[in-house]
Amino acid sequence: MITEKILDQISAESITLIQGEILGDIEGSENIDRKIEGFFGLLKRCIEFSDPTLLNPFLDEWWQTNEVERKEYSLPSVNQILLSIFNVANRDLSAEMANQLLRDILPIFIHANQYEQAKYLESQIKIISKTQVALQQLEKSKSDFISIAAHELKTPLTLLEGYGAMLREILEQKKIFDEHIFLLLEGMDSGSRRLREIINDMIDVSLIDNQILSLNFQPTWLYQLLEKIKFEFQKPVLSRNLSLEINRFSGDEILNFYDGERLFQAIANVVSNAVKYTPDGGKITIDGRKLAEFIEILIIDNGIGIDTHDHEKIFDKFEPIGEVAYHSSGKLKYKGGGPGLGLPIAKGIIEAHGGRIWVESEGYDEANFPGSTFHILLPIRLEPPSQPSSNLYEPLFTRKPLNKM
Ligand code: ADP
Repeated sequence: MITEKILDQISAESITLIQGEILGDIEGSENIDRKIEGFFGLLKRCIEFSDPTLLNPFLDEWWQTNEVERKEYSLPSVNQILLSIFNVANRDLSAEMANQLLRDILPIFIHANQYEQAKYLESQIKIISKTQVALQQLEKSKSDFISIAAHELKTPLTLLEGYGAMLREILEQKKIFDEHIFLLLEGMDSGSRRLREIINDMIDVSLIDNQILSLNFQPTWLYQLLEKIKFEFQKPVLSRNLSLEINRFSGDEILNFYDGERLFQAIANVVSNAVKYTPDGGKITIDGRKLAEFIEILIIDNGIGIDTHDHEKIFDKFEPIGEVAYHSSGKLKYKGGGPGLGLPIAKGIIEAHGGRIWVESEGYDEANFPGSTFHILLPIRLEPPSQPSSNLYEPLFTRKPLNKM
């Protein structure tokens, strides 16, 4: 009872204080005055019924008004009101009365504070989830853009390739064998080939992003697939004086059901990086082992290595990493940069097989070449998965497996 009387006495004073210190002369402040008066009225009821939750509907409305009208004027927080009461009590009341007042109102303010905190958290969570939805939409439009751009680029590229081929034919028909012209045509061809590879990579990335990459599971022997890899990289390995050693390992002779072509693409992407980021004269080794339910393939190079902070980032599309100073944009030249799609595609293909890929490297060092080891884990799959795209007529490779060396 005493507290309510004290509150009656000091509420007008507190309001004046709030007006002066917090609100100033802003527009709409009469409206706020009414709200603060309402607050004091409720405060008394909370004390009377010893129930701080009576304040909740008021706090809800307060919060909402503040959210909507925040740009025009700001309601004082409950802490600011408490502060104004403290100041008035300090100034105008005896110590005993001030103590009595604080004893009664503090639990109510603690409750109001916690309630406001919860509201604040709730509003932050709403903002975060809205941002997440916006980010997902952005990611989706990015992926749609890649897919549309890739398909649109294909048409003019096909025209260029067609005119190039026609030009070559005409020259041959007219028996014009000018070395320079053929060199220029060679340049055009290799440019279009590279462009087609990039477009195909863009399409693959959007298939992976949209989770519509379909695999054609066929009986596949890993040792044969790796032999094909050795063959594929013969030329750059020779021209860059690299050594590419492919070891036989336990499990490489198992006849697994994989999409051999896609798996070849994934491993080739990793090996082409090993070629690109290993200096001339360096060494690349492919090894592996059989685990309980998986086969692990290791692609080891003694190249420039990868900073530990980038070990995950390199598998994200279009993510250029740190300090690598690219020398050129050649596909297999030393430190030839690329669009950053090779590893995301490799990851997508391997994960679609139920596998995993990760990298181990002590760090990036172009002077000491710590090297990198890529691990690829593939599930042993002795049966084809039951899915319509499985096409199980002929083994992908017709030769029998070699005996283990
Ligand atoms: P890119 O087209 O740039 O080669 P990738 O997705 O294939 O794209 O690789 C992403 C990045 O990861 C590369 O740009 C390179 O910085 C780094 N990287 C990948 N493999 C290696 C490796 N074996 N050694 C050093 N850096 C590598």
